[in-house]
Amino acid sequence: MMYDFLPFNTAIISGLFTPLPPEKVPDDTLGYWAVLQGTSLLVPVGLEQALLPVGSLPEGLVPETEPLKIGLWQGHPLRAVRIASDTILSMQYEALPFQGPDARLDNTLATIAGRAAQIMHWERRSRFCSHCGCELTRIPASWGKKCQSCGDEHFPHIHPCIIVLVRRGDDLLLIRNAAWNVGRFSLVAGFLDFGESLEECVQREVREEAGIEVANIRYVGSQCWPFPSQQMIGFLADYAHGEIKPDGIEVVEAGWFHSDALPLSPGGKRSISRWIIDTFGISGEPVNPVR
Ligand SMILES: [Zn+2]
Repeated sequence: MMYDFLPFNTAIISGLFTPLPPEKVPDDTLGYWAVLQGTSLLVPVGLEQALLPVGSLPEGLVPETEPLKIGLWQGHPLRAVRIASDTILSMQYEALPFQGPDARLDNTLATIAGRAAQIMHWERRSRFCSHCGCELTRIPASWGKKCQSCGDEHFPHIHPCIIVLVRRGDDLLLIRNAAWNVGRFSLVAGFLDFGESLEECVQREVREEAGIEVANIRYVGSQCWPFPSQQMIGFLADYAHGEIKPDGIEVVEAGWFHSDALPLSPGGKRSISRWIIDTFGISGEPVNPVR
């Protein structure tokens, strides 16, 4: 299915990457490095297609975290590590944003960088038990953690989030979040709330952000979104009734845009937002949900 090939989903790196918990990755050999600085990946300069550093950790870097083995990259251990955002890089390396459109960083490297970021985020946030405050230790052969004091088990926090393209004929509903620059629009999206089905979440988010009602909600695909740890669940919906009225707080603009005259690049190049618009938002395109 097409959405299997969205960046950050595992299919992108199948054949290149074998996910493994740290204790299952061999210890005694050198391998590759996923060095993250914020949401950028450190790569050697001057290559048309970037590569992961190989061998020892590039000289002069002071890691903020212990190197963490997250699997095998092309059959060799892959270690993830984070460096401080104010680290000045040597002339041999540069940091490329892995959410951004830089073509030197292909989707496979963006995806492995995202995986490393998501795992390191979990590691940083799972040091102590949220129930009793004592230290957690890893459950063997998994990313889960167990509290040695109260016995609670904790597993990676991945937050479900709907994202929906609402169509009215050839017009698409786009919104501008209050935090975004003027002129930047995207699809309605939001976190799942207690007690909701995904479809109910779609209805509520569209109602809250744009003031309208939708019908005929159907699933089209999903994407891991490691910024820091969301699962984006994509839908199409048809306009049902109501007048557009943004809430004025979270959403400051909302409107119908003809599919031939969309604002510049709604959603980033690597996002499911972009894919949904490209796949289902084109004028005259039939509605063909993936399943
Ligand atoms: Zn505990």
